[in-house]
This record gives sequence, structure tokens and C-alpha cells, in this order.
Amino acid sequence: MKNVIIIGAGFSGLATAASLAKKGFKVKVLEKHKMAGGRARKFETEGFTFDMGPSWYWMPDVFDNYFASFGKKTSDYYDLMRLDPSYKVFWSREEITDIPASEKDLFSLFESLESGAGEKLRAFLKDAKFKYDIGMNDLVHKPSYSALEFAEFSILANAMKLQIFRSFEKHIKKYFKDPKILQLLEFPILFLGGTAKNTPALYSLMNYADMRLGTWYPMGGMHKVVAGMQKLAEELGAEFVFDQNVERIVVENRKVSRVETQDGIYDADYIVSSADYNHTEQALLGKDYQNYSEKYWDSKVMSPSSLIFYLGINKKVKGISHHTLFFDEDFSAHADDIYKDPRWPEKPSFYISCPSKTDTTVAPEGYENMFMLMPVASGLEDNEETREKYFEMFLDRFEKLSGESIRNNIVFKRSYAHRDFVKDYNAFKGNAYGLANTLMQTAFMKPGLKNKKVSNLFYTGQLTVPGPGVPPALISGQIVAGEIAKLAGVEKEVKEMVSI
Ligand SMILES: Cc1cc2nc3c(=O)[nH]c(=O)nc-3n(C[C@H](O)[C@H](O)[C@H](O)COP(=O)(O)OP(=O)(O)OC[C@H]3O[C@@H](n4cnc5c(N)ncnc54)[C@H](O)[C@@H]3O)c2cc1C
Repeated sequence: MKNVIIIGAGFSGLATAASLAKKGFKVKVLEKHKMAGGRARKFETEGFTFDMGPSWYWMPDVFDNYFASFGKKTSDYYDLMRLDPSYKVFWSREEITDIPASEKDLFSLFESLESGAGEKLRAFLKDAKFKYDIGMNDLVHKPSYSALEFAEFSILANAMKLQIFRSFEKHIKKYFKDPKILQLLEFPILFLGGTAKNTPALYSLMNYADMRLGTWYPMGGMHKVVAGMQKLAEELGAEFVFDQNVERIVVENRKVSRVETQDGIYDADYIVSSADYNHTEQALLGKDYQNYSEKYWDSKVMSPSSLIFYLGINKKVKGISHHTLFFDEDFSAHADDIYKDPRWPEKPSFYISCPSKTDTTVAPEGYENMFMLMPVASGLEDNEETREKYFEMFLDRFEKLSGESIRNNIVFKRSYAHRDFVKDYNAFKGNAYGLANTLMQTAFMKPGLKNKKVSNLFYTGQLTVPGPGVPPALISGQIVAGEIAKLAGVEKEVKEMVSI
């Protein structure tokens, strides 16, 4: 039995652990925190349970396929609910749009915003489905060592239709003119950490995920998915050791032999780091063995960081949904403040998740659990004064737009931003979502999942292929498990597992 040490128990580490345990590897996961989940951890206080990171459960097929690859169903581990409306958007105090789950209602909504847009949405989503099917079946599971992997008939034959070299902005403007529709379609690109200008039109597959596959909620919270994945990995024999901060990866004769934590030494035949890539290379590995220099990292376009407020409210708040977007300011100016000229934004868009609208277990009875989030450039100075300035701004705007006063009803408040991402996750520049999915940072142009100088060291997670977000992080773990299985000579079974 070969020993595999996995650094980190986020979604990618969990998927790697279960996939390799199933193949008969002896898997140990070393995690610096007291629990699994990484950016998707939870915390509990005063009767509230807060998901710390992801709140949108999109692409349910990815989770279904994941559990099915182990002969299981998602419902063996957690209960899902489709949200309707999927989300609410405030454009102004008077203009509020609920995005319906039903396709028929969605077409009517588009038609009401722009004459003819209902029919155009049908064509737009047909194209988006085509991209989703090819993207999720043929592209996303590639280890992406080189461009040659993409020289398959199905990909080459459809290269033009996939629109890798066209911008997302041009693509959506070909169909629609109404600014609200354009902003609704641009919203999912935020998950990829890019803008409509610098993201390939291929990613309209995200609109298919949003509008056709829907927005779901695992009852109890996103951490229920984490708990399910940890349980599955443990059932397959993986072992988790928490409170273990990996401090060094030791290389001997161009092979990693062990990792060292504050508590001890763990021998390994293979090591997979799901910790942030930059941290693994710059802090844990000797300079001679790094794939990339600090200069390389400085040249990369990072996805945003986030300023988050976790709030407990001692009343029920009217006027908002489970997910509510505040698009009352021009997002293109906010996007420039993230990517073009990184600085704290003047007039940001922001988002509120209020899971207590769906789930009575996440807040005491009669209370609301609210999570306010603003995407903000990585690498900015983050201090209490700045956080408070935005908190006041969000409250002012929230109260003005929703007509609901909450300022005097806040019974719990915790803020979270760059400094916390660095402290908790060793996140490069305090990033929240890894690398932006720009054209030049897609597939084989992303940081590779294999170390080029050390034969048994691998990377997984949102900073390598396929990219940021829970479903990609999970797939990343499956891909890396497949690569290790190949190296160890159990390739065939893993290929079947990864490609379902
Ligand atoms: C605020 C926020 C909101 C988001 N919203 C969504 C959403 O709604 N939907 C969605 O799909 N995605 C969302 N995402 C993105 C998604 O959460 C991430 O892409 C995904 O969780 C990343 O998983 P990972 O395994 O790559 O990394 P991580 O979750 O960061 O896991 C890495 C793990 O490594 C551990 N680690 C780091 N260094 C060490 C060390 N030296 N020793 C031991 N352990 C170490 C960390 O503690 C962590 O547990 C969001 C992210 C954030 C931050």
C-alpha cells in the first residue's frame, strides 16, 4: 500500500482523499484547522451556524457524478432543495427582479426587459448548453499538461463553436442590449474571478448552470456537503489529522520523502498539496524544487478577495430572498477597481446570503443569519477602519433599498477579509477564489498540477486546473487522483472513475 499525504482538507483535498482511498492507497490528510472544509468551513456562535465561504450550490450534476463514482448518491449524505426564486436583484428601490427557477417565467422576464429577448434567451441557452456539455465532458477533466491534450476530434471539430478566443462581453452583446439583462448574464462570471471583457465566451456555460441547472441549497448549509465528503472519504479508509500545520516538504534525490508539521513527521510515497499553490512552493518547498518563481506569481491575474460580514439579526427581515444581489451601482467601475487599477472601490456592488430564509436550523427562531459579501481586489491593505467604512455603506444602502431597518437589530457581527485569508489559508495576496479564469490562465496555461522537478509531488485545488469554485475544486481532486493512480499503475480504474 502506497502512502499518500494530502495537505489540506478543502473540497479538492477531500475529493483527492476519497478517490485515492478507493484505489487502495493509504491516505492521510493533514489539515491546519480543527475541521475540514477550508474556505468552506463553518463557525457556530450564539445559536447561529455560518457558512464561511461558498453559499451558491451550482452544477448539481458535478456533485451527483462525484458521489455516483463511489456508488453513492448525494442524498445519502445531505438533502438538497432547489431555490425559487434562484435569487433577487435590487437595481434601485423601485426596481427589483426575482430570477425565477421556471424556464417559462424566465423567458417572460427577459421579454419584459427587452422586446424579443425571450426568444433570444432560448437560442443563447442552447449555445450555452452545448458549451456546458463539451466543457464538462471533454475539457474540464484534462490534467492540462499540454495543449496537445485538447487536440481531440470532438474538441477540434467544435473549436469555433466553443468561442475560446471571443470575449464573453462581445458574445452576450450579440444577443441582448438591455443593461439589466447584460448584468444578469455577467454575474456568474464573478465566480470565475474575471470580467466580461477578459473572460472567454466559452464561459457562457455558467449561464446554463445558473438558468437551467438552477441554484440549490444543501439543508443545514454548504458545510453539510463538506461533512458528506469527509464521511465518504473516511468510509473508504482515509484518515484525517486536524490541527496539523505543514511546515516543510522534504525532498531527497528528487523525490519527496516526508512532510513536517509542528507536531511530527509523516512519511509519504506521494504528496498532494491542496493548500494555496504559492504557499506550497514558496513556504514549504526548497527554492530548487519550485515550479514557479515569485516573479511568475506577481505576473498572474488573481481572482478577487472578499470583504465579508457574518451577521446575526434578532428579527425576521422582509424584502430579501435567500440570495440577494445589490446591483444599484455600475459594476464595470467596481470591476475596474478590482482588475485594472486595484483599489478599494468607491461604489461597489455587494451580495447578501440569508440562508435562514430557507433553513430554520442556521439561526435561532425569529432571527436571521445574514452574510454580506463584496468582491474586492486581492493584495490591498486591509484594516478595521476600512472594513467599518464599508459596513456602514452596506447598511445604508441595504436599508434604503429594502426599506428594512436592521442596524439596531444586529446581535452578532464578525468581519473577514484579506488578513484573514492570509492567516487562515496562507492565501497569496489574500485571494478568496484563486486565479482569474482569463484566456491566458486557462487549462494548460494555469499552474500545473504536477511538480516538474520532483516526481511524486502534486498540486490540486482552485489555483490549478480546472480553476476556482466548489465544482472545479472537487474535479481538480479527482484529476490529480487519476494522475497518481496512473503513475502507480492503477490507471484504468481511475480513468473510469474520473470520466463518468
Ligand atoms: C467567500 C467565498 C465565497 C465563495 N462562494 C462560492 C460559491 O458560492 N460557490 C462556489 O462554487 N464557490 C465559491 N467559492 C469558491 C470555493 O469556495 C473555492 O473555490 C473552494 O472551496 C476551494 O477549495 P480548495 O480545496 O481549492 O481550497 P481551500 O478550501 O482553501 O482548501 C485548502 C486547505 O488547505 C489548508 N492549508 C493551507 N495551508 C496549510 C498548511 N501549511 N498545512 C496544512 N493545511 C493547510 C487550509 O486550511 C484549507 O483547509 C467561494 C470562496 C470564498 C472564499
